[in-house]
Amino acid sequence: MKINEALEQSQELYPSGGGQTSFYELLDGENKFRIITGFAVMAKHWLNKQPLGVCFGLAKGCPICKANEEKKKEIVARQDLTDDEKFEELNKLKQSVSFVCYIIDRVDNTIKLAELPYSVSKRIGEWEKDTEYPFEGDVPNFDIKVTRDVKGRKYSTDVGISTIGKGLSAEDKELIGEQILNPEKFVNHMKKKSAKEAGVEYTVEEKVEQLPEIQVEEEQTDAPPDFLQPAGEPAPTPPDEEVTKEDIPF
Ligand SMILES: [Zn+2]
Repeated sequence: MKINEALEQSQELYPSGGGQTSFYELLDGENKFRIITGFAVMAKHWLNKQPLGVCFGLAKGCPICKANEEKKKEIVARQDLTDDEKFEELNKLKQSVSFVCYIIDRVDNTIKLAELPYSVSKRIGEWEKDTEYPFEGDVPNFDIKVTRDVKGRKYSTDVGISTIGKGLSAEDKELIGEQILNPEKFVNHMKKKSAKEAGVEYTVEEKVEQLPEIQVEEEQTDAPPDFLQPAGEPAPTPPDEEVTKEDIPF
């Protein structure tokens, strides 16, 4: 998914969550990485700065969303709170939204699953709209630098100027190899897991047209390149995922 589609979807799915500070996969100080897939939206519930679990949506029966609906009514009805205090209390019930993608960490040059916070994702979304910043499909064609300020927990996000438009290096491609990196699959897995823990049956609408979202050479736009999935071989599954045959969309 494109970052701007993911940002839009996050507003539809979690309208109250967008502005919240997200998960901290990024470290304090300077972080450098290369995004190598599109994005998937993931929301988490929090209580007193502790994560309660991945949200799978009020409509799908998320028990925390249901409980929060009741809590919201109670907060709004309270006579002892000012409007500002009510706003603050309601704010605590919001999910935090993050944007999940696979990256190559430039610190140790390994592939990792990143949960990019809203503010960083929004900046990437602005670049996608700006024609001066090249994208290959859904993927920014440059390295990204995110600096997290320790005190304010603020993020500033920059492009790696020297990498603009240069594509992935041979080393990067070798690192990715035959892996199929699909952030949607990870998020669906997390939602299913969360639903299972809550005793709720959760089904995922798999997109039929879903293909591995990975940066490819420009001349290879017609079909996924052979190196992603050798013909006749079963699709490799990411580690740490309980993936059944039905889960594999191709
Ligand atoms: Zn929820």
